Amino acid sequence: AKAGSGNTYEFYVNSMGMDAMDSLRLEGALRRALERDEFQLHYQPQVDIATGTVVGVEALLRWQPQGGAMVPPGDFIPLAEQTGLIVPIGDWVLATACAQQKAWREAGLPPLTVSVNLSARQFQRQDLVELVARLVRETGCDPRYLALEITETDVMENPQAAVAIFRQLNEMGVQLAIDDFGTGYSSLSYLKRFPIDSLKIDRSFVHDITHDIDDATIVHSVIALAHSMHLKVVAEGVEDARQLQFLREHGCDQMQGYYVSKPVPASAIEAMMQRTRAA
Ligand code: C2E
Ligand code: CA
Ligand code: CA
Ligand code: CA
Repeated sequence: AKAGSGNTYEFYVNSMGMDAMDSLRLEGALRRALERDEFQLHYQPQVDIATGTVVGVEALLRWQPQGGAMVPPGDFIPLAEQTGLIVPIGDWVLATACAQQKAWREAGLPPLTVSVNLSARQFQRQDLVELVARLVRETGCDPRYLALEITETDVMENPQAAVAIFRQLNEMGVQLAIDDFGTGYSSLSYLKRFPIDSLKIDRSFVHDITHDIDDATIVHSVIALAHSMHLKVVAEGVEDARQLQFLREHGCDQMQGYYVSKPVPASAIEAMMQRTRAA
């Protein structure tokens, strides 16, 4: 181990073969991270392609250990999922995102749908619907501008249970999105039964749409399929004007990606929205 180094986490997250000791330490650090208030949410704008307006943001978790560099979610969410720590962390994410949505509304920003990622563990808990209802009540956020993203793979683990949970969330007015669409295997009959609002096309497909005829075909087909089921389509990972042009030509509804903005702190979203209003 790199005892005494400024960023002790570097060691854990960079060594691919974490041994039991390392994962125990990372687990301990993750446990303390909540108490020490080391998590933050960054927000990535989601833009309506037809109008060019920012209509929502996706909340993305960031971990900034004391005195260390930012740890990307891919480096700690898998362990958080394994250990169940994702449940308290996820509660914090949901509560923080709800409070932020309410704060933006109070600051007079145009309504923004705030999307929150849910992991399988959170989705499987018995009290998810109650939890969301309680947080909506406690924070005063508007459930119609709250969206939950669940990956295709997590949903398809138990599609019947998912239908039941989706129905209850849908009744509360919460929006639902299937994340990373195209990377798993969805049964179309289930997709039809889900009271969902949108499909998010995984960025691995968007990346090559202007070069790879197969990816272009997949994206084109997903948009047509989603629209035939009255679902919105959101493209992730849009990095350049040509990708955006392709998506626009094929009627994709919304996009997010570095072409518009990286995920940024809440204050930067506010500044961005004030600028658009002034313009
Ligand atoms: P995701 O839900 O698919 O989120 C999109 C990821 O793509 C984010 O990575 C985002 O920063 C990145 N991204 C956005 N636009 C672009 C682009 O134009 N190019 C490229 N190359 N990447 C782009 P991030 O923030 O590192 O998050 C990674 C994953 O971690 C997320 O994938 C999600 O599965 C998970 N995650 C993040 N926050 C949370 C959370 O609060 N709860 C849970 N359960 N999972 C989370
Ligand atoms: Ca997502
Ligand atoms: Ca994705
Ligand atoms: Ca994902």
